[in-house]
Amino acid sequence: MLNRFTEPILVTRPLLPDLTKVNNQLEEVWQSHWITNNGPKSKELENSLKDYLEAENVSLFNNGTLALLLGLKALGIKGEVITTPFTFPATTEVLDWLGITPVFCDIDPDTLCIDANKIEGLITDKTTAILPVHVFGNFCDVITIQEIADKYKLKIIYDGAHVFGSKLNNKSISSYGDMTMFSFHATKLFNTIEGGAVVFKNDRLKEKLNQLKNFGLNQNGEVERSGLNAKLNEIQASVGLEVLNIVPEERVQRERVRLLYEENLKDIPGIRIITKNKGVESSYQYFTIEIEEESFGISRDKLFDKLKEFNIFTRKYFHPLCSSFRWYKHLESTHHLPVAEETVQKVLAMPYYGELSNDDVYKICEVIKYIHERSLT
Ligand SMILES: *Cc1c(COP(=O)(O)O)cnc(C)c1O
Repeated sequence: MLNRFTEPILVTRPLLPDLTKVNNQLEEVWQSHWITNNGPKSKELENSLKDYLEAENVSLFNNGTLALLLGLKALGIKGEVITTPFTFPATTEVLDWLGITPVFCDIDPDTLCIDANKIEGLITDKTTAILPVHVFGNFCDVITIQEIADKYKLKIIYDGAHVFGSKLNNKSISSYGDMTMFSFHATKLFNTIEGGAVVFKNDRLKEKLNQLKNFGLNQNGEVERSGLNAKLNEIQASVGLEVLNIVPEERVQRERVRLLYEENLKDIPGIRIITKNKGVESSYQYFTIEIEEESFGISRDKLFDKLKEFNIFTRKYFHPLCSSFRWYKHLESTHHLPVAEETVQKVLAMPYYGELSNDDVYKICEVIKYIHERSLT
C-alpha cells in the first residue's frame, strides 16, 4: 500500500519572483505616484514582451478575457464566429458579450485543437472570423486555417492562453493569424497575477485598442467609441517584469518534470500523453494525459477521485464543453461534436510546475501505476 502525500499536491503553483526584487520595482512606482493608466512599468513590460514574443505590436490588458473581447471588437468581428467547444469558458463568453453567435467545430483527436478540415463546412454568409485555441500548448493547423481564411476573407484570432513563448517553424506562434490573445493569470506560465495581452500585426489597431481599454477616450479626451475599463495597472506590470525574468528557468524545470512524467507513465496501459511539444515549440503550460478506460482499468472520473485520496489534485480540464452551456441548446452546431464529447470524458491535467520535485513526480506516477494494477484484480 502506498502512502498518501502529507501535503496536498495541487495541479499548479503560480510562478513567484523574489519578493525583494518586486519591492524594488514597487519602490519606483511609489516614488513616481503613477500607479495606473499606461505608466512607465506598463510601457516597459509592453516592450519586453514585444521582444520576448517577437511581436510587432503588443497591447496589455487587465486580463486575457477582456483582451480577447476588445481585440475582437477592434477587428469589427460580428455575426457568426467558428470556434471550438473544447476550451475555457472565456473563449465563448466574449462572443456572447459581443452579440456574436458561436458556431462550434469539432476537434482533432490528436492535438485536441479545432479540426481544420471541418471548418469550411460551417461557413455561412454570416461568418466573419475563426477563433481557434492552441490547446494545452499543442498548435492548431495554422497553415490550413490561414488558407481557409484567405479563401473566404475571414479574420483569424487565436486564443493563445496556453502558448506563451512557443515557436512553430522558428517563428513565434503569435505571428500566425490576425491576432493572438495571451492570458497572464496566476495559473499561466507567465503571470502578472491577473493580466493579458493581444499581439497583432496591423499598426492601426494600436490606437483603437488603447481607446477601447480606456472608456473609448481618444487623446483629446473625447469619447470616440464605446469602450470599457480594461487597463493593466503599474503593480501588475511590476510583478510581470520580474516574473518574465524567471520564465526561462521555469521552462527548464518544467522540461525536467515533463521528461520524468513521460518516462514513468509510458508503460502504463491506457494512458496517452497529449502535450508533446518540446524545446522552443513547447509553452510548458500543461502536462495533460488521456485515460482510455478499457485498457487502463477505470475511468478518468474514478482516477481523478482516487488520486484525491492520495492528496493529488488533478483537473478535468476542459470539462464541461462550452457547447453544453444551457443557452446554446438551440444551436445546431452543438449536436455534431463526437470527438470533443469523447475527449472531455478522458482528459486529465496533471500537477505541473517547476517546483515539483523529482521524488514527487516519481511518486505521482507510482500511485497511478498502483491504481491501474489494483483495478485489474
Ligand atoms: C486562462 C484562459 C483564458 C482566460 O484568461 P484570463 O486571463 O483568466 O481572463 C481564456 N482562454 C483560455 C484557453 C485560458 O486558458
